[in-house]
Amino acid sequence: MPTRRTARGAERTRLNGDFDVVICGASFAGLAVARELRGSGARVMVVDRYEIGERQTSACGIPTQWLRVMGLMGAHRQEFPRLVIHTPHGTSALDLPWTFSTFDYPELCSLLWEGSDAAFETAKVNGRSGDTVHTDRGDLTAPLVVDALGWRRVLGGGYQPPDAPLSRGLEVHPWGAGDELEIWIDRRYVPAGYGWSFPAGEETRVGVGSFDPRFHVKETTVLLADDLERDAVRYQGNWIPHKLRRGAEDRVFFCGDSAGHCLPLTAEGIRTAFYFGIALGEELRSVVEGRKTRDQALRDYAAFNDSHEWKFNWMLRAQRAVPRFPARMQRGLVAAAGRKRFVDWSFRHYLEIAHPRFAMEHARTGDPARVPVAA
Ligand SMILES: Cc1cc2nc3c(=O)[nH]c(=O)nc-3n(C[C@H](O)[C@H](O)[C@H](O)COP(=O)(O)OP(=O)(O)OC[C@H]3O[C@@H](n4cnc5c(N)ncnc54)[C@H](O)[C@@H]3O)c2cc1C
Repeated sequence: MPTRRTARGAERTRLNGDFDVVICGASFAGLAVARELRGSGARVMVVDRYEIGERQTSACGIPTQWLRVMGLMGAHRQEFPRLVIHTPHGTSALDLPWTFSTFDYPELCSLLWEGSDAAFETAKVNGRSGDTVHTDRGDLTAPLVVDALGWRRVLGGGYQPPDAPLSRGLEVHPWGAGDELEIWIDRRYVPAGYGWSFPAGEETRVGVGSFDPRFHVKETTVLLADDLERDAVRYQGNWIPHKLRRGAEDRVFFCGDSAGHCLPLTAEGIRTAFYFGIALGEELRSVVEGRKTRDQALRDYAAFNDSHEWKFNWMLRAQRAVPRFPARMQRGLVAAAGRKRFVDWSFRHYLEIAHPRFAMEHARTGDPARVPVAA
């Protein structure tokens, strides 16, 4: 929740130094990469404009298995075996082949951070020249630089809304419990996109996401909260990239939203940030341990990133197609899609895009952070 803890003014001392790895951004992607480097002996510096876990960046919904396999169940709030979909013409409840969970953002960030042995400083990243990252507190130099700064991709070619391939999302966090994970496909809330209600213990996250960046979601987020008799309080929102970008560019590694790792259609970007964060951590480790050159790691990570492009493109096609269906047909589609065999098939394929087994397969021997789960 947005409580300001970050040092300001005179408290912000100069920050300069040379490191083996500089990770810019301390949310899902940056923290996952930092944790993968634990015990490598590398001097790793992580920077973010806010303290770790200070600013929530999502509704914090994720397949439960991802929390389990990453050893993050300490932040768990609620588990949902089904997804309830509302359209103007009726409601369907889909029994999922795997469960979805919500978690607490500050707790999850602090668990990720506990598993790391990197250094952390609050600083705003302004740009880069060569191997030097410029921050508002000074310059940080490292041969390995990671941009995990979110959709702005500050260290690469930036995106300018509303012309870039970005969706937008806004949510409120009223106190009050709930039992169901619900979404609304309803033009009353958004012409192309969906509304959601994600209960998380004592609070519920109610929001609206629009695939069209020109559609302003504030009014309809309030409308949905009103319809659910929830208070429209404690806002959080952001742009959400919906197109995969290059994983490496001009000697910088990109991970999470900065690489467009958020999935189109569903706007799920946490497990993909973990997934690519693990892959990137492994590449950086191989450089630190002298098994690869930086250029090899840049090439291999970029190729791994690109190998997922067709899956992201399929999701993007679906994102573009769904709003074109007339409202009445949408209800029929949801009902047809609600058949158990189809739900099992489609959700299993969907999970495969960034499956939790990846975290187990890429765990180092004796890694205390990884907890085996049945895949
Ligand atoms: C309203 C909303 C709800 C969402 N709900 C879900 C959900 O339930 N499940 C899901 O999987 N995905 C969800 N998403 C998408 C998800 O939030 C993102 O895909 C995910 O946060 C990406 O993680 P990240 O670490 O790449 O980037 P971010 O989480 O955006 O983190 C970027 C970090 O960089 C820091 N930063 C940015 N610029 C600078 C700078 N110049 N200097 C220093 N630091 C900087 C920020 O402070 C932040 O800590 C949602 C998105 C929105 C907008």
